[in-house]
Amino acid sequence: MTKLINGKEIAQNLRNELKKEIDNLRSKTGKVPGLAVVQVGNVAASSVYVKAKTKSAEEVGIKVIDHHLKEETSEKELLQLVMKLNKQVNVNGILVQLPLPNHINEQIILDSIHPDKDADGFHPLNVGKLSIASHNDENLLIPCTPYGCLIMLKGLGINLAGKNAVVIGRSNIVGKPMAQLLLKESCTVIIAHSKTQNLQEVCQNADIIVAAVGRPEMVKGNWVKNGTVVIDVGINRIEVKINGENKNKLVGDVDFKEAAKNAFAITPVPGGVGPMTIACLLRNTTIAFKNAQKN
Ligand code: NAD
Repeated sequence: MTKLINGKEIAQNLRNELKKEIDNLRSKTGKVPGLAVVQVGNVAASSVYVKAKTKSAEEVGIKVIDHHLKEETSEKELLQLVMKLNKQVNVNGILVQLPLPNHINEQIILDSIHPDKDADGFHPLNVGKLSIASHNDENLLIPCTPYGCLIMLKGLGINLAGKNAVVIGRSNIVGKPMAQLLLKESCTVIIAHSKTQNLQEVCQNADIIVAAVGRPEMVKGNWVKNGTVVIDVGINRIEVKINGENKNKLVGDVDFKEAAKNAFAITPVPGGVGPMTIACLLRNTTIAFKNAQKN
């Protein structure tokens, strides 16, 4: 029978472990990890994410330092805030919620975060470290969504070495770091993208498929061979008719119902990868705190 990978439960387990670890750190050092959460403007989805991240962080004992700035904040003002947070000793992780308003260059802001406080793992130095490290070093700050996917894969207890893994999507935040993580597990990795030809055939040869595209139910059931593990990162809102009424529904990049017939294990949307992303943000903040104690 196909195994449903329960992201909510795995994320809860990770948060429980982090809570214990933070309690121990508090008893030993008298301090707790601090996470600065910076939001510029009032994009509704960003406010939802910031609220969810803040709630989860506080639940595990991380202190959240909230900076909600006006939409008109200039790039210079935001840079000045990041510089201040880079020096602030009670701040171990800095999270700048994306997207930023159009007048601010996101890359300039992300690059200005001190690599040791890079809670998202997006800084070029951390991206480089992830690429160079030969194994998954516990001190690395790794992009949260792909790391969450890796935890779910490892939790299945299968030997990842030598498996054919297809990552669909080559973004800096999901596809590329996912491929790096799978490579470190000794998978044979293919990164497929918008220009890939015969994607169906490429997927049919995969033991592991990670879909991070942003196209509702693009991966069809017959793209998934028997025994494949399917991790669906996509979050897509589609309109469906329920009792004659148009309603919004969240779906992934995979046709869940059909793919589940062939898969060995599969993540649902929602309740799969999503909860893991936040849990891994808390993990990075805790790692950054521990790294700071060593210095
Ligand atoms: P992105 O838009 O930056 O990248 C999408 C990638 O898909 C691109 O690399 C592109 O080459 C590829 N692509 C586009 N069309 C394709 C096609 N027809 N065939 C093959 N590849 C194609 O997106 P992203 O930021 O990586 O996010 C991808 C999806 O994952 C989105 O739905 C996003 O909402 C979701 N996401 C979820 C989480 C989470 O926590 N669950 C986190 C990040 C992103």
